[in-house]
Amino acid sequence: MEHCYSDATITKITSSSSPSPIPPPPPPVVSPCSACKILRRRCVEKCVLAPYFPPSDPLKFTTAHRVYGASNIIKLLQELPEALRVDAVSSMVYEANARLRDPVYGSAGVISQLQNQVNELQQQLAMARAEIVNKQSQQANLMALMCMEKWHKIIPHQHHSSDNDYQTNMSFLDESLGSLWEHVWT
Ligand SMILES: [Zn+2]
Repeated sequence: MEHCYSDATITKITSSSSPSPIPPPPPPVVSPCSACKILRRRCVEKCVLAPYFPPSDPLKFTTAHRVYGASNIIKLLQELPEALRVDAVSSMVYEANARLRDPVYGSAGVISQLQNQVNELQQQLAMARAEIVNKQSQQANLMALMCMEKWHKIIPHQHHSSDNDYQTNMSFLDESLGSLWEHVWT
């Protein structure tokens, strides 16, 4: 069933949502962000570091600060649009951690290690694929042999060259088995 609004209802809906509400003032900063706490400075309301370095995670700023320095972090964040700052901070913290673990290669060392791993796994994958193809062809050959054997059993009176070969092989097998039995019994 369709809803039909009368003109009066529409006016009521639009008029009730029309006056734009005044945004509430931002809450005052209660505790300083971890960056300001470590730098021993007052954390102002519009602190550029506060959104990315909460007081609950002081290690994040300590790590980035040790490698980049506070002024470089602040400068980099100020030069970036706000939408990109979260990723920039994650990247800085990740790279700083890598640099502290490996002072020579930093995150490049991790990348190269992972690249080697990818290459090794790709080689293993190629080998596994080749093995699958090999097994599939073996299976196809076996199936063909089984079909041929079945065919021989169904039509035993039809003789041709391969059939003769088959019989020769079988008689050879009988002879060898016979000699084997003679060895066993004597
Ligand atoms: Zn702050």
